[in-house]
Amino acid sequence: MRTGPRQVFAQLSSTRPPAHPVQLVDTAVVLGGSVAGLLAARVLADHAGSVLIIERDAPTGGGRRGVPHGLQIHLLLAGGRVQIERWFPGFGEQAAALGAVLVDPAHSAAYSDGLRRVNAQEDVVLSCSRPFLEEQLRNRTLALPNVRLVTGQACGLDIDATAVTGVRYRVDGVEHVQPAGLVVDAMGRASRLSDWLEHAGWKRPPLRRVPADVNYATGFFRREPGLPDVANVIARHRPGSPVSRVGVASLKAIEDDRWQITLACYGEDRPGRDDDEFVALCRSELPSFFGEAVDGDPVGPIETYHQADSRRRDFCPDSLPARLIGVGDAVASFNPVYGQGLSSAALHAACLAAYLQSGPRLTAPARSFFAMQRVVVDAAWEISTAADKARHHLEASWRERLGRWIRAQVQAASATDVVIARRFRAVTVMLEHPAALSTPGLLARALLANRLAMRRHTPRGHRTQRRPCVRRPQDVRRDGEGVGAGESQHSA
Ligand SMILES: Cc1cc2nc3c(=O)[nH]c(=O)nc-3n(C[C@H](O)[C@H](O)[C@H](O)COP(=O)(O)OP(=O)(O)OC[C@H]3O[C@@H](n4cnc5c(N)ncnc54)[C@H](O)[C@@H]3O)c2cc1C
Repeated sequence: MRTGPRQVFAQLSSTRPPAHPVQLVDTAVVLGGSVAGLLAARVLADHAGSVLIIERDAPTGGGRRGVPHGLQIHLLLAGGRVQIERWFPGFGEQAAALGAVLVDPAHSAAYSDGLRRVNAQEDVVLSCSRPFLEEQLRNRTLALPNVRLVTGQACGLDIDATAVTGVRYRVDGVEHVQPAGLVVDAMGRASRLSDWLEHAGWKRPPLRRVPADVNYATGFFRREPGLPDVANVIARHRPGSPVSRVGVASLKAIEDDRWQITLACYGEDRPGRDDDEFVALCRSELPSFFGEAVDGDPVGPIETYHQADSRRRDFCPDSLPARLIGVGDAVASFNPVYGQGLSSAALHAACLAAYLQSGPRLTAPARSFFAMQRVVVDAAWEISTAADKARHHLEASWRERLGRWIRAQVQAASATDVVIARRFRAVTVMLEHPAALSTPGLLARALLANRLAMRRHTPRGHRTQRRPCVRRPQDVRRDGEGVGAGESQHSA
């Protein structure tokens, strides 16, 4: 039987406990000790005698140089959460005991252009800051007896005729060489791996970019202790919306009795560091929860961040040395408003586990790993670049336009039909592959729901007028509405 992307994605999303450990190499080295690197190290711990993580920044519980966007809001989608629980059972409960907030559906809300959407959330969301999440992951990973972390800067690979054999890194200006049976690049979107490969005479993986041009501003505010009425809110607005200039606004209760609020705008629209402007935007243009949250005292300054593009490196295993893997943003990083990065990293760890459990021939490039990873990257890329391509008037294939049109129908219907909303959410939270939205049954239901919604909003005397109930594929392409910015995920 042929296994398509939807089936591969479903297998990777499995919550099966890890298989029995089988050692394949003496030492595995992970370059970069952030979320993707830590999850990869956890997987490798079952297949290597020892795992060494090389991370430039000293471990910290706060913001750090290597992750300059770390203080912006980070939502952990259900697809990533289940993987983290798979590798670290009880992770959510443990994080909650240390201050993270577990948000059930009754405490979540989502808005589109000021209107509250039906709530499709079925799971409990783990809500905390990104440094907190990373710290818990680091603690759990480094508690494994065969994993250790060294603070140093990776500066190159040793590669023989066919395979990577070791890693070079510097600590306090002194260069060290670590022999390795497997090396994982988890150095984030600025990874130098391509340069190193090229320098060693290998082909540089081609880099694709799609402009995102998104501007973030994040503020922290004091929150009354305990679970508030609503702990996780997302509000999105179409470009040119009369409701707000903010593309996506997100509010969540996090550890240390704080609110974290992020405002994301596109292009020239840059929410600044000015406290008064931030608070005024929250009070005047967003659902009342935002206004109530900024009544608390500010905790620290407003943090801003600009992300220019989504980017992916297309690793072609035929022109890669053996014993080399890439994970996380080093492979693909997306427009952040879709909240896919952490969950993609978790699914890359699932790819690594599936690859290693298959008993691979490590003397050959990791073909099956990269094939599985491509399914995960394609799924996230398709969702996150669709609206950006349209906003920047970039050419799209007919297949992409059709996909966008289908998603626009399903998305429109998901505002009112809870069955469709749940399926739509399962895709945007990375529990299911986007192909799950293209089944004839779901599409027919979406078209019907949109037609009924249209009739409800059309005055009786005007019902004979025939108008398309939602946009046609060509309209979708023009105005950029596909799966809307930040529509995803987070709550409803
Ligand atoms: C503004 C913004 C908001 C976001 N919001 C969300 C969200 O809501 N949900 C979500 O899931 N994702 C979100 N993301 C994406 C998420 O932050 C990334 O996908 C995630 O950080 C990727 O983790 P990573 O481990 O691959 O890379 P990174 O976190 O970038 O880590 C790379 C690590 O490698 C280290 N490193 C680099 N070079 C070297 C070297 N030479 N030697 C040793 N160490 C090195 C760095 O110090 C760093 O620790 C957001 C991103 C941005 C920019």
